[in-house]
Amino acid sequence: MEKRLATKILFWSFFIALVQFSCQVKSQEVEDEREFNYDEESEKGPARWGDLHREWSMCKNGQMQSPIDLLNERVEIVSHLGRLNRSYHSSNATIKNRGHDIMLKWIDGAGYIVVNGTQYVLKQLHWHSPSEHTINGRRFNLELHMVHESPTGQTAVVAIMYKIGRPDSFLSMITNHLAAITDITEKEIVLGIIDPKQINIGSRKYYRYIGSLTIPPCTQNVVWTIVRKVRTVTREQVRLLRVAVHDESNSNARSLQPINRRKVHLYRPEDPQQN
Ligand SMILES: [Zn+2]
Repeated sequence: MEKRLATKILFWSFFIALVQFSCQVKSQEVEDEREFNYDEESEKGPARWGDLHREWSMCKNGQMQSPIDLLNERVEIVSHLGRLNRSYHSSNATIKNRGHDIMLKWIDGAGYIVVNGTQYVLKQLHWHSPSEHTINGRRFNLELHMVHESPTGQTAVVAIMYKIGRPDSFLSMITNHLAAITDITEKEIVLGIIDPKQINIGSRKYYRYIGSLTIPPCTQNVVWTIVRKVRTVTREQVRLLRVAVHDESNSNARSLQPINRRKVHLYRPEDPQQN
């Protein structure tokens, strides 16, 4: 009898470990984006994401979803968060057309950021146009997401927003590669060594709040850091990212989500000389 109980316990602990493992894998962004789209009228559109798979239910039931509007009146200005602690290094990268966006992935990570004492390794970046987050209701032309992961599978995203103006130097650097993956989905192209330090932030101020992935499975408890300064990109660069995806949609931006009871902080250094 005791032996049977022991076997049962062993079986169930194995089963629970397996479920936990598969949940952790599923918390990452979906890589094949043909399973959903950005057409509000479509069966696979944003309003239906939460119904398409059981694992995507957070897209409709989650109370801490992203993106949100960063409204001045709601934002609490703080200095205790401290400067964004980035330790990036160059590393081998690939580029891939995921169907609704272009993803640049670092094979072994490219350094890390530290948030609240936890290291989050930089895994990949991708772009949304127009921007997903808005500032005081204003939407910008492009938003870059740099996706980081902790050893326990928690996600931290650093976002930079862009309006039309001078070219973005990082995008200029990879222009030829973007042309190479136009219309090719699923296939990864080797980029070689890419240094994330070449992505300009240009400001120490940033917004911080807790939200979710903005694509299925819409996993929550994502730590968002949104750089306050809006940078610039040319119309041609935004167009190039859209043409490369070629999903017959003009947007890959999810609509704004309710903020509910969440706090949004704006980090500003105490020394006014620093920007
Ligand atoms: Zn994103």
